[in-house]
Amino acid sequence: MHLTKDTLRADVLRHLTYTLGKDAPHASAYDWRMALSYAVRDRIMGPWFQSTRRTWAEGRKRVYYLSMEFLIGRLLQDAVVNLGLDDLAREVMAGFGQDFMGLVEGEPDAALGNGGLGRLAACFMESMATVGCPAYGYGIRYEHGLFRQRFEGGQQVESPEDWLTQTNPWEFPRPESAYTIGFKGQIEGERWVPGETVVASAHDTPVIGWQGGWANTLRLWAAKPTTLFDLDRFNRGDHTAAAEPEALARTLSRVLYPDDTTYQGKELRLKQEYFLTSAALQDILRRHLAAGLSVADLPAHVAIQMNDTHPAIAGPELIRLLVDEHAMAFDTALETARACLGYTNHTLLPEALEKWPTYMFGTVLPRHMQIVERIDSWHRRTFHPPHYVGIVKHHEVRMGELAFIMSHKVNGVSALHSELVKTSLFPELHRTHPGQIVNQTNGVTPRRWLAMANRPLSGVITQAIGPGWEADLDRLKGLENHIEDKGFRDAFQAAKRQNKQALAGWIAASQGVQISPDALFDVQVKRIHEYKRQLLNILQTIAHWHRLRETPHASAVPRVKIFGGKSAPGYAAAKEIIHLINDVAAVVNADAQVGDRLKVVYPANYNVSMAERLIPAADLSEQISTAGMEASGTGNMKFMMNGAPTIGTLDGANVEILQEVGAENFFLFGLTTDEAIRRRETPNQSARAIEGSEMLKIVLQLIAEGRFSPDQPDRYHGLLHRIWHHDHFLVAADFDAYDAAQARVDQAYADPEIWVRMAARNTARSGFFSSDRTIRSYMKDIWNIPPAL
Ligand SMILES: *Cc1c(COP(=O)(O)O)cnc(C)c1O
Repeated sequence: MHLTKDTLRADVLRHLTYTLGKDAPHASAYDWRMALSYAVRDRIMGPWFQSTRRTWAEGRKRVYYLSMEFLIGRLLQDAVVNLGLDDLAREVMAGFGQDFMGLVEGEPDAALGNGGLGRLAACFMESMATVGCPAYGYGIRYEHGLFRQRFEGGQQVESPEDWLTQTNPWEFPRPESAYTIGFKGQIEGERWVPGETVVASAHDTPVIGWQGGWANTLRLWAAKPTTLFDLDRFNRGDHTAAAEPEALARTLSRVLYPDDTTYQGKELRLKQEYFLTSAALQDILRRHLAAGLSVADLPAHVAIQMNDTHPAIAGPELIRLLVDEHAMAFDTALETARACLGYTNHTLLPEALEKWPTYMFGTVLPRHMQIVERIDSWHRRTFHPPHYVGIVKHHEVRMGELAFIMSHKVNGVSALHSELVKTSLFPELHRTHPGQIVNQTNGVTPRRWLAMANRPLSGVITQAIGPGWEADLDRLKGLENHIEDKGFRDAFQAAKRQNKQALAGWIAASQGVQISPDALFDVQVKRIHEYKRQLLNILQTIAHWHRLRETPHASAVPRVKIFGGKSAPGYAAAKEIIHLINDVAAVVNADAQVGDRLKVVYPANYNVSMAERLIPAADLSEQISTAGMEASGTGNMKFMMNGAPTIGTLDGANVEILQEVGAENFFLFGLTTDEAIRRRETPNQSARAIEGSEMLKIVLQLIAEGRFSPDQPDRYHGLLHRIWHHDHFLVAADFDAYDAAQARVDQAYADPEIWVRMAARNTARSGFFSSDRTIRSYMKDIWNIPPAL
C-alpha cells in the first residue's frame, strides 16, 4: 500500500488510456473520475483476495448479512480515505488540472435503500471490514434505487433514479455465480415443481475497511430470465411478445420499494424478498459444501443475520433446501436453521410488520406454506406457547413471529427499543423464549461520517489526540482534556464555521437563499414521517417567526431551519407536511422585517451525499420523535460525532446519547413513552393542549387563515383538523415543552464559550456510537465469531 505519487499518477493515466480509451487532452471529468476510481480499485484487490484466502485457509466462520436495502452513497472518497490515499489523490488529480472533490461529487449515489435501515447495513459492511469480521452482504441490485425528489409548487414530485446509466466502476459481474429461483407451481408428492423460474446473477462489490486491513464482499443479485428470448414468437413476427420472458424476470430487480415504515402486501415485494433470500442461501450452501464440510456443520461456519423481517423467508427456505435437496430430517433441518439465523427487529409500528395473506403466500411459495405450518406445529409441540401465539393466524402468515421462532437470537436496536420488543411487541414469545431477545444498540461508521465527511474537524481531533481514533473511537474521550484549552476551542469552532461557510455557499448556489454562517444552523434531516414530527418543528418555526415580528427590536439569536427528507409516494399526510414546510419557507424567507434572523431552507432530494454535507455544518440536531416510536435512529449519532448537541425526546438511542453526553449537553423535552401512552387515552387530549397554549393557538390560527397559502387559504384545514382531533403523535401535547427547549437552545448559543464546550463534549463522548462497537457486540453475542484483526 506504499503508493507514491508517481505510481498513482501512472495508474490513472494507464486506466484513462487502456480502460477508458481516452486521450488525456480530450478526457472529461467523467473520464478522469473513472480512471481514478479504477486506479484506486486496483489497490483494494490485494486486501480483498488476502482476506478471502485467509478465511478459507483458517476455516473461519462467516457472517451473511441479508438485507433488502443497502444505502451506500458514493464509494470513491470512502475507498480513498480508507486506503489513506486522500492527500495523494488530491495532489495527483490537481496535477491533471482536476479538482478531486469536484470529481468525487460527480459519482451518483448508490441509493439502494430508503433510510436508516439501509444505511445501517452500509455502515455494518464497512465496520465488518474494519474489525476483520469475514462477511458477505447480500442484497438486490436494483436498477432504480430510491426515487429522486424535487418540489413543484412546494409539493414533492418523484422521478426514477438511474444510478446504473453510468458504468459502475466498483462492481464485478459474476455470471458464473447464478442460481435458479422458483415461484408458484405445484407440490408433487413431497417435491415442489415451480411454475415460474428466474435466474439470480451475482454482482460483487468489494468493501474495504480502515487502512485496507481487511475487505469483504457485497454481493447483489440481478434477475435474469431463464429463457432469454422466445425465438418462435420472434420468427412469427411478434417482436414485442418475444421479449416477454426477459421483461417479466427483470421486474424482480427493477425497483426498490419506496416505503420505509409502512408495509403493503404486494406480490412483487414477496417475490423480491424470496428472490434475494433463496439466491443468498443457495450461495451460502454452495460455498459451505465447497469447503468439504457437511450440512450438519452449518452452524459452526455460518451466521445469517436477517435485517428486519424482509428476508424472514430464510427460515423456511433453509429448511426446504436442507430437507428437499440434502435429505435432512425435518426437525434436524429446523434446529440447524435456527442455530444459524438471527433476526434484527427495527420497528414497533404495527403498520410496518409484514403479514402475507395465506392465499398469496401459498400461491407464490406453495412448498414454503407447508413448511411454515410444520414450523408452527413444531413450535406448539415443543414450547407450548399460549394458544393464540402462532405464525399463521387469521389467514395471514406473520413474518415477525416467523423470524422470531426461526432465530436463536432476536435483537432490538437500542436499549429502550429492545425493552419494548420484550414488553409490547413479542411479550408471549419473550416469556416462551426467555433470553432470546438481546439488545444491540446501532452505530455509524466514523470513517465516512467523521474522517471523510468532516475533514476540518478530523484535523482538529488528530491535532489534539493524535491519529488512530478513526478505528478506536473511544479515544475521542481524550478530547475532554483539551476542552479547557482556549486554542483547542477556537480550532473546534473554526472547523464548524468552515463547514457552515461551505454549506452556506452551496445553499446560495442551489436554493438561491442567502444564509449567514453566524446563525444557528438547526437541522432536521430524515425520512418525512408523522412519528418523526417534522410538523412539530415547522409549527415551532412559525411561532418563532411570529415572535420575531412582534418584537422587531429585541435581540435574537439568528437561526436557519434546515429540513431534508423524502416522503413515501403514497403517504398523503407526510406530503402535506412537506408542502407546509415549503409554504412557510417562502413566506419567512421573503419577510424583510425578519431578514437574517430567521431563514427556512429545504433542499430537495436528501440522500447520503447531502447528509455528508449538512451534518458537519449543523449546530443543532433535531431528534424529536414521539417517545416510543423511533427504534434507534442513527442520524442522531452522526450529528453527535460532528459536534451538534441534540434537542430531543427520550426515544430510541437518544436515551443512550443523553446518558453518554450528560443532561447539561442535551436539550431534553417532551413526554416519556409511558406518559405518551397514557396521554393518548385522555379524552380530547390535543384540543386541551391547544386550549392551554397561547402560542400554539396563534400558530394554528395563522395556518387556518391561509397566511402561508394565500393562493388557497383552506389548504391545511385537513391537517389542522387532525391536530385538533386525531393527534396520535402528540404534536400539540409536546408543543410548549419543545418551544421552551428551543428557548434554552437560544440562551446557550448566545454564549459562544458555553456552546463550543457543549459541542466539543458531544464529539468527545460519541465513541460508543461507532458501528465498530456494534459489530464487535454482534460477533460476541449473536454470531460467535472472533475478529480476524
Ligand atoms: C443516517 C441516514 C438516515 C437515518 O436517519 P434517522 O435520523 O436516524 O432517521 C436516513 N437517510 C440518510 C441518507 C442517512 O444518511
